[in-house]
Amino acid sequence: MVDPFPSGRGMVEAAGRLNVRRDKPRTNSPKARVVEAGTRFPVRNSITGDLVSGVSQWFDLGGGEYVWAGGCRDFQPLVEEDADRPDRRHLHDYVPPRFKIAAGVRHRIQGRRPHGLEGLIVHFDAYRIRKAGNGVEDSDTRSLDMMRSGQANGFHYGEISRTGTIFLPENFEWSEWGSHAGVSQCPLTQRTGVSRYYVGVEMNNPGRLYEAQEDGIFCPWFNAVRDATGNVVLDSRGRCQRKSIHDEWYVASEVRTVTADGNIKAGTYLPYSFDQFEALTNLCLYLAKTFPATFSLDRVFGHDEVAPTRKNDPGGALADPARLMTMAAFRAYLKSLI
Ligand SMILES: [Zn+2]
Repeated sequence: MVDPFPSGRGMVEAAGRLNVRRDKPRTNSPKARVVEAGTRFPVRNSITGDLVSGVSQWFDLGGGEYVWAGGCRDFQPLVEEDADRPDRRHLHDYVPPRFKIAAGVRHRIQGRRPHGLEGLIVHFDAYRIRKAGNGVEDSDTRSLDMMRSGQANGFHYGEISRTGTIFLPENFEWSEWGSHAGVSQCPLTQRTGVSRYYVGVEMNNPGRLYEAQEDGIFCPWFNAVRDATGNVVLDSRGRCQRKSIHDEWYVASEVRTVTADGNIKAGTYLPYSFDQFEALTNLCLYLAKTFPATFSLDRVFGHDEVAPTRKNDPGGALADPARLMTMAAFRAYLKSLI
């Protein structure tokens, strides 16, 4: 029997949800806490503990806490001279993504990706971001609503809330695909049905906004009067009628109105939050680092690039309140970070 990793200090990543055991490296030791999939964390050493699935190596986290090494991946040793000053990449330049499994949510898997994970599609979910009515921001709860909606509708995606939390369904595997982009074509490879090749990431965001008849008020589609076919009704000045003052709407300082540029369709958008955009950026870098043989930052596209006649996401919602980026600018930005 061979231990999967060398001994000694290092950084390692949770391959799935990991139980941290207290006192002894044993599966029946008390559970101290849970480490979410994708989290990178430091280990002090490894020792032999309970044999699980042929692996008896456990990591010693210090403080009497242990995790089973079989649930980890991508061990990177800290060499002695670095021990007191870890590689900057671990602390600063590269911030590992914060994954959270959406309990009870399973999305529809349609098969294995033919060539592994090759890229990512940025979406917005065109959904509420606040508590009932026009309450305080409650984006984690709303993101979980959308994760459940994805299950009900047979879709498959991850979702990033405005707090920067990345929600994944319970049955999520990067190597498997399900529908998120619909009828689509990649502008780079010309392949259709891009969900098969690129993972979908929904960003919690109300979508393109409509100026209301009241000055300085902007409404999402779900709080604007719509016609029988679901289209927002606009008056002669291009303004919508707000359905309810008690439902979600935004003031001028929260939104931005942009002209058409690259993938961006002219209109008014609520920018993604700083934390949300940071999480998306880190996720792209993480995927490039985790799947270097297949994933390319040149294959990070907007839904509005792969389905330009039907879709306007992410449009002017990218990048964050301080920066507006076309998808081409975002790809260049990502490549500047590696
Ligand atoms: Zn979309």
